[in-house]
Amino acid sequence: MRIAIASGKGGTGKTLVATSLAWWLAQRGTPVTYVDADVEEPNGHLFLHPEPVGERRVPILIPAVDASRCTHCAICQTTCAFHALLVMPTHWMIFEELCHSCGACVAACPERALSEKKVEIGTLRLGQADGLEVLTGVLDVGQARATPVIEATVASAPKERLRVVDCPPGTSCSAVASVRGADLVILVTEPTPFGLHDLELAVRMCQALDLEVAAVINRADLGDEAVREFLEEEDIPLLGTLSFDPHLAKAIAKGQLAVKASSEVRSLMSSILDYLTEEAP
Ligand code: SF4
Ligand code: SF4
Repeated sequence: MRIAIASGKGGTGKTLVATSLAWWLAQRGTPVTYVDADVEEPNGHLFLHPEPVGERRVPILIPAVDASRCTHCAICQTTCAFHALLVMPTHWMIFEELCHSCGACVAACPERALSEKKVEIGTLRLGQADGLEVLTGVLDVGQARATPVIEATVASAPKERLRVVDCPPGTSCSAVASVRGADLVILVTEPTPFGLHDLELAVRMCQALDLEVAAVINRADLGDEAVREFLEEEDIPLLGTLSFDPHLAKAIAKGQLAVKASSEVRSLMSSILDYLTEEAP
C-alpha cells in the first residue's frame, strides 16, 4: 500500500503527519518506508534522524547532436513541444533546463544525428531509523526539474513495504508526480481561507487522478468551520484534528518527532491507523 501525505498549501503540517505516521506504523511491526518526495526541500530526516545506508545519483536523458551528421533541417526543433531546441544555420543548441527527456527529437531526426546522454540532477539517499526505512530524494541545487527525481524516489521504494510518501505542497507537476498511483491521499489542511482554497485545488487534483482522499485538519481550534463544511459536502473522511500547540511547535523546532512529543499527535495516529485497518481501499 502507498499512502501519500499531501497538502494544497505549504506549512500545514504535512511532514509532521508523514513522519509521525511512518514511525507509528513501524513501531507496530509494519515494514514501512518513509519516502520524502519533497525533493526541493526534503526535511523528514531532520525528525527521523536516519543512519545513512547508501545513496545513488538520479540521471535523466538529454539529446546530444553529432555535428558531422546534422543538416540543420530543424525537424527536431519543431518536434520539441517544450521549446528546448534551437537550430540555426550553423549551430545547434539545447536548453537542458527545458528538456523533459521525452526522446521525441531523437526519434524524429531523419539523419540519426541525435543520441541521448545522461545528466545527473539529483540524489537518492537511503537510511534506517527505529526500524523504519527512510528514502529521501534530493534535487541538486540549481536544477529546476524536480519531477524526474520525485518519480525516481517514489519508484525506488520497495513495493512489498508500506510506503508513506511525504509529497511536495501545491498542485503542480511535482505534486501530481508524488501522488499518482497512491492507494490513499491524506490531505493535511488548516481552517483558514487560504487553507480552504488550496485544499479545494488539491481535492480536484486527486479527483482528476481518480485517487481516494481523506483529510486531517491542523490548528483546528483556530479559524472557521468552512473547511469542515467543504469536507462534508465532498464526502471526504476527516481522520482527525490537531490543535495549535506551542509546546509541540518548540519540540519540532528542536528536531523532535511530533508523535513522540505530543499525546494529541499519538491520538491522531491511532485514528489514522483505525481508518487504514477498517476503511481504506
Ligand atoms: S532533426 Fe537531426 S538533422 Fe535536423 S536539425 Fe535536428 S539534429 Fe540536425
Ligand atoms: S527529449 Fe523531448 S523535451 Fe528534450 S529536447 Fe528532445 S523533444 Fe525536447
